Amino acid sequence: MHDPESVLQVALPLPLPRLFDYHPPRGMAAARELVGRRVRVPFGTQERIGLIADVGAAAGDVPELRAALAILDDAPMFHGELLDSLRWLARYSHAPLGEVLATALPVALRRGEPLPDTHAWAWQLTEEGATRWIGLRDGSKPRRFAELLLAQGPDGEPAAGSPARRDETALDDLLDGWRSAARALLKRGLVERLAVPASQLAPMPQPGPAPNQEQSIAIEAIHAAAGFAPMLLDGVTGSGKTEVYLHAIADCLARGRQALVLVPEIGLTPQMLRRFRERLGVPVHALHSGLNDGERARVWAAAWRGEARVVVGTRSAVFVPLPDAGLVVVDEEHDASYKQQDGIRYHARDFALVRGKALAVPVLLGSATPSLESLHNARSGRYLHLRLAHRAGDAKPPRVQVLDVRKRTLDAGLSPQLVDAVGAALEAGGQVLVFKNRRGYAPVLLCHDCGWSAQCRRCSTPERSTPMTVHAGGRRLQCHHCGARQAVPMACPDCASLALQPQGNGTERIEELLAGRFTDVPVLRIDRGSTRRKDALQRHFDALGSRPGILIGTQMLAKGHDLPNLTLVAVVGIDEGLFSADFRAGEKLAQLLIQVAGRAGRADRPGEVLLQTHHPEHPLLQTLINGGYHAFADAELALREAAGFPPFAHLALLRAEARHADAPMQFLHAARSLLDCKPLGTADGSPVPGIELHGPLSAPMPRRAGMYRTQLLLSSPGRRALHDALDAAMPSLYWLREARKVRWSLDVDPVDLY
Ligand code: ADP
Ligand code: ZN
Ligand code: ZN
Repeated sequence: MHDPESVLQVALPLPLPRLFDYHPPRGMAAARELVGRRVRVPFGTQERIGLIADVGAAAGDVPELRAALAILDDAPMFHGELLDSLRWLARYSHAPLGEVLATALPVALRRGEPLPDTHAWAWQLTEEGATRWIGLRDGSKPRRFAELLLAQGPDGEPAAGSPARRDETALDDLLDGWRSAARALLKRGLVERLAVPASQLAPMPQPGPAPNQEQSIAIEAIHAAAGFAPMLLDGVTGSGKTEVYLHAIADCLARGRQALVLVPEIGLTPQMLRRFRERLGVPVHALHSGLNDGERARVWAAAWRGEARVVVGTRSAVFVPLPDAGLVVVDEEHDASYKQQDGIRYHARDFALVRGKALAVPVLLGSATPSLESLHNARSGRYLHLRLAHRAGDAKPPRVQVLDVRKRTLDAGLSPQLVDAVGAALEAGGQVLVFKNRRGYAPVLLCHDCGWSAQCRRCSTPERSTPMTVHAGGRRLQCHHCGARQAVPMACPDCASLALQPQGNGTERIEELLAGRFTDVPVLRIDRGSTRRKDALQRHFDALGSRPGILIGTQMLAKGHDLPNLTLVAVVGIDEGLFSADFRAGEKLAQLLIQVAGRAGRADRPGEVLLQTHHPEHPLLQTLINGGYHAFADAELALREAAGFPPFAHLALLRAEARHADAPMQFLHAARSLLDCKPLGTADGSPVPGIELHGPLSAPMPRRAGMYRTQLLLSSPGRRALHDALDAAMPSLYWLREARKVRWSLDVDPVDLY
């Protein structure tokens, strides 16, 4: 008989705000130790994998409950700090715990596969082998293999009689074709293979440059931190932030603790991993989207077992277990790739801070262009503010010049002065980066005779059309929002005219112009179109080497790679960013400009930056050029405060979409009345800051890939009020009749209001 008091409360990855009760599998008791383990359960006519979130009394009718089929783990996948932090994330994002836990688990484990092995394999002589190896033919592979398994005497010769272990990675380096020799000796019982802890063997750590004074102050401050200590390492590009991370990590390792380093998608390069491995002298586990499911699960398991001492990874690495945590680093903390844009919409930087607090370890956020949120926290004293105001070594800051192009004739959007400057930089032996944040050949295809232009059918509404971008030198049309593609029509579909003309400029058109103008140097275009494969970027850079040449690219080029010979950065086509309606547009543009400019003159050569614009007097550009990023941030924070935007207000965005325009509106109207009818007040009746509701309104992009999109924005000066309102309304939202006809989601602290 089952104990009626004791059922398993299982979190299943389903969009329902509840746990599911099951009896434990036959013959088992629902014990506390089961919490955090994976379980296979029947669900309808199917089976599902979930996590045991709790054990306790059943919520409903006990005799109706079904029994779980199997407990999949001998030990919890999540426990202690990580389980608590994930429960917090579920509450904060108002998302089902089952979905949050599934998001945090590598895909292979989500599917129910066992936690993979992480140990390395080593070989050694058996007792018999230790005496009989001498009988193997001199010079043969098996003899040489056996000799490798003998301890080395002081003269470097094998010392007979004392066996040694060698792991397989070491053997790969020592003897070609050792595996067949090993198999032959295994059959004869002379050697054996055994699992050993993941290789701790590593080259000696290489010394780095001696820290300068600013770096030393930062390193000392991190060293002195005790317990949870949020810190903003606010250092100009090339100031040596990575050096500071390396010192802090080495310090953490020396104390026997694990370090987690988060980097933006584009920042996790082989170059960067090599630098970490060489300098730290321990294996560095990388976790990123280029790994297959098995590899990801192995890295996760190595962290879970405490074997991985340094984990470097992109967004989802924030979920690795850290049983011996000592430090969390978030590099380029302002980067938009830390925000997950679908499913559970977490922010890896913010969750890293939550974990750091629960783990009682320092959290180091680094950036040359900190987010206004982090800067605000640093200035108000919540974060320790560490500054690196100068470039490291002998590198000089780049010289920035605004090119006023009003009334100039432009070719592919480039002014004659800009093209001349490119020529001069190449002449002087330097490399040039032309930055244009629009890929493709031209953003619009226009009929010169009747005014028709090519629109995406799936992303346009009668009120608002979305043009398709011209690609492939003018042969193909592509929608950058939904990916739709088609050939460029031979003639205008409206008037049959042949006068179809690409309007405006993308990176392809700039490439065409510059390749025609500078025929004796390589001209490389780098954007998502030309650089699909993971290693393509590296191969482009390798191909260029240190010769003079031109790189043309979108924001993929704004960071990640060191290009020591880059002497000129030319930025074109930023004007539309100056007038965007998005309240974060100014911040994003300022960050992009500073990061792109920071690519110039990283080593001993001085760098120059040209900013081509029709709005040279624009306050954003003026403040940025004359006062730098901090002057911009001051001005922007004042504007945000006056307008009641983050970080001075807290937002949540309820989105809904459907194939028909009405359903999402109806759903959000119903949601609004749920939120409206909960009067807010504290227990003692004193007034609390309430929430404001804006909408429902069409999204700034009202239709995408055939779906009509609407949104309801919630804002409040107080985080508490926002969450109280959501806590009250969310459970009912799932059961709204209107919810059945739409896809909806809640985004707490949205980054994009799109
Ligand atoms: P960031 O991460 O701030 O962009 P890095 O740590 O990558 O900066 O450093 C930029 C360059 O300066 C690198 O080539 C690095 O080796 C060099 N560097 C960093 N610190 C020093 C130092 N104290 N002395 C000399 N060179 C340094
Ligand atoms: Zn026409
Ligand atoms: Zn489209």
